[in-house]
Amino acid sequence: MPFDIQKIRNDFPILSRKVNGYPLVYLDNAATSQKPQQVIDCIVDYYSNYNANIHRGVHTLSQEATDAYETARKKIQTHFNAKEAYEIIFTAGTTHGINLVANGFSEILKKGDEIIVSAMEHHSNIVPWQMLCEKTGALLKVIPMNEEGILVFSEYEKLLSEKTKLVFVNHISNALGTINPIAEIIEKAHEVGAAVLIDGAQSCSHIKPDLQKLDADFYVTSAHKMCGPTGVGILYMKEEWGNKLPPYQGGGEMIAEVTFEKTTYAGLPHKFEAGTPNICGGIAFGAAIDYLNAIGFEAIEKYENKLLKYATEKLLEIEGLKIYGTGPDKTSVVSFNVEGIHPYDIGTIVDKLGIAVRTGHHCAQPIMEFYKIPGTVRASFAFYNTMEEVDALVAAVKKAKLMLS
Ligand SMILES: *Cc1c(COP(=O)(O)O)cnc(C)c1O
Repeated sequence: MPFDIQKIRNDFPILSRKVNGYPLVYLDNAATSQKPQQVIDCIVDYYSNYNANIHRGVHTLSQEATDAYETARKKIQTHFNAKEAYEIIFTAGTTHGINLVANGFSEILKKGDEIIVSAMEHHSNIVPWQMLCEKTGALLKVIPMNEEGILVFSEYEKLLSEKTKLVFVNHISNALGTINPIAEIIEKAHEVGAAVLIDGAQSCSHIKPDLQKLDADFYVTSAHKMCGPTGVGILYMKEEWGNKLPPYQGGGEMIAEVTFEKTTYAGLPHKFEAGTPNICGGIAFGAAIDYLNAIGFEAIEKYENKLLKYATEKLLEIEGLKIYGTGPDKTSVVSFNVEGIHPYDIGTIVDKLGIAVRTGHHCAQPIMEFYKIPGTVRASFAFYNTMEEVDALVAAVKKAKLMLS
């Protein structure tokens, strides 16, 4: 199927609105993606036609909702190539999934054990582990990165030992766009018997991972970064870990039997899915995955790489503009600053021209500290962005520079 950008843009109603009198140019896709009509329709259909609580009812609506929810789980299983559908646990998103795993490891880690994080993580893949270390006496080690925003693999290898119990890294840095070599990271960790959690929140919209081939132990992501709704995501957990980790929250849905003397827990995935879940969100997550797969991840990657190359070239023509994250393996994120100008001021001026970029530390303060900067302007592109939108961004940044310097 040819990549028809105009047809794709027509699927996204929000892209035809105006902001401050200008056509919206949405370049904040690393924070959240926009939603196609197909996903919006799926949500409307659910609440219009078969809204009901799942898994418990014998009535027709409940069965229809349960079927749709479990079908979505299977779609997600197929997409990420998990071995079993019950290894896919619905969560409220990436942050929730990480906290669930960190909570589980609080019963596994002992004082003196080591866990490893990378220098380019989102705060949600740092803070829960720090809390875990405080609770257990385990030590947090950090894989350093270099000026280009690439992890120093040889330093990672030095950190690994038989004390290492868990390694957690993002597949792609949301602040820099760097693609990390997760296959090699997982392989090395397994050589010392450590488990690996991959934060796929930033990569899921660009790359389709094969979880069995990667042999990841845990993989977390959020639907809203891949054209689905907010407040829903998944935690993939290899079956052996699903059996080993204790439940995170207690409540309905996660039990087999409850008496006041003793409660036994349900099997996977329900053991980790206490309470009524985001039913509509899960179903719409499935619709989002269908939508992306119909376009095709190869086509998406190819097109986004063109956008990235063009944006990088054009932005670098602006004198005094510096890009952070300059490694060869990158997705369509351009984080930059213009000499002498605060990123926030650029963000404010380009917004006046209808352009949405993010400014600040992007929930990755250690990266900003590394570069000794307060933050960056981050333009993050999706497959529905155009070369003309890149031109609009470049013109707006030039204008901001004129006004501010
Ligand atoms: C967005 C993001 C998160 C957090 O996702 P939530 O949906 O806010 O839980 C974590 N890690 C990375 C790399 C992200 O891009």
